[in-house]
Amino acid sequence: MTALPTPRLRPEGSGLSDGFGRVARDLRVSVTDRCNLRCTYCMPAEGLPWMAKAEMLSDAEMLRVIGVFVGLGVRQVRLTGGEPLLRRSLVDLVVGIAALKPRPRIAMTTNGVGLARVAGALAEAGLDRVNVSLDTIDAETFSRLTRRNRLTDVEKGLAAAAEAGLAPVKVNAVAMRGVNDADVADVLSWCLDRGYELRFIEQMPLDAQHGWDRTQMVSADEIRSRLSERFTLTALPDADRGSAPAERFLVDGGPATVGIIASVSEPFCAACDRTRLTADGQVRNCLFSEVETDLRGPLRDGASDAELADLVSGEMWRKKRGHGIGEPGFTQPARPMSSIGG
Ligand code: SAM
Ligand code: SF4
Repeated sequence: MTALPTPRLRPEGSGLSDGFGRVARDLRVSVTDRCNLRCTYCMPAEGLPWMAKAEMLSDAEMLRVIGVFVGLGVRQVRLTGGEPLLRRSLVDLVVGIAALKPRPRIAMTTNGVGLARVAGALAEAGLDRVNVSLDTIDAETFSRLTRRNRLTDVEKGLAAAAEAGLAPVKVNAVAMRGVNDADVADVLSWCLDRGYELRFIEQMPLDAQHGWDRTQMVSADEIRSRLSERFTLTALPDADRGSAPAERFLVDGGPATVGIIASVSEPFCAACDRTRLTADGQVRNCLFSEVETDLRGPLRDGASDAELADLVSGEMWRKKRGHGIGEPGFTQPARPMSSIGG
């Protein structure tokens, strides 16, 4: 990992810089904490209470806050959740984000259930790209992993995204030991056949039930060796990586590629350019933050854009050097992935 400088006191106008010299350009917005799947690495089978509607930002509030981030220098907005497609006003939100100046790139991470119905409308509204999460292409394993029998819907959603021109269509997969780790090459082969760009991500301690166990985690190295049993992987130079967390490989000489994100075993914190807004209006400078800054209260109490921007800058400045998983004293954040926005 690249060495980061020692933090200084926050200078005026620090914008989206943190005390280690990183600058956030990529805002992840969780538009809802609700979901229609129950992936075992994310949510318990039942019993996770949803946010009350009154606690959630309205469309107008969300757009205003996103506008503040864009004013500070955000260049990509990624809509996520929970399942973003469950927010009924999603198309309107995309229209609103696309009207901001300068217009940010707009991306979405979705489980793909229900995407077939709205992919065209979202593309027309201004959505540029989509990542669909799909961990297995085996129907029985899919039902076991997500606790729902919706594989066909996800497949249709992916096809609709490609049809709507949301290219390149990316697929995100998490490998779990004894569940789908033996399927990783099948998933790659399936994606290659359809022209989808696949990225694996190591499972992180962000599940609502706090059941993550490092000794059980399928590491990036392990995923690479399993893929190498069937494909020839050639690592692309790090220079092609920038702030993107995935190590990318040409598959069988290319041009197709596969990415592997070693978020736990080889963190990319030193190059992180992300910041996050939750559906209830909290700014988080990291997935693993134990603190957050409330914007909803000040917003509803009449704060100006400049005051909101100052709160955002303060939150960014205190971003830690790294997530610290595996270090003494690491504690999993109280807020689960489904409510932070992955
Ligand atoms: N529901 C949408 C979906 O599944 O794509 C968006 C939200 S989901 C929290 C965003 C991403 O986080 C998904 O790709 C999901 O696989 C990933 N994810 C969830 N829990 C995770 C965990 N514990 N470790 C690693 N990735 C996780
Ligand atoms: Fe829902 Fe996405 Fe979490 Fe799966 S990973 S339970 S689809 S929020």
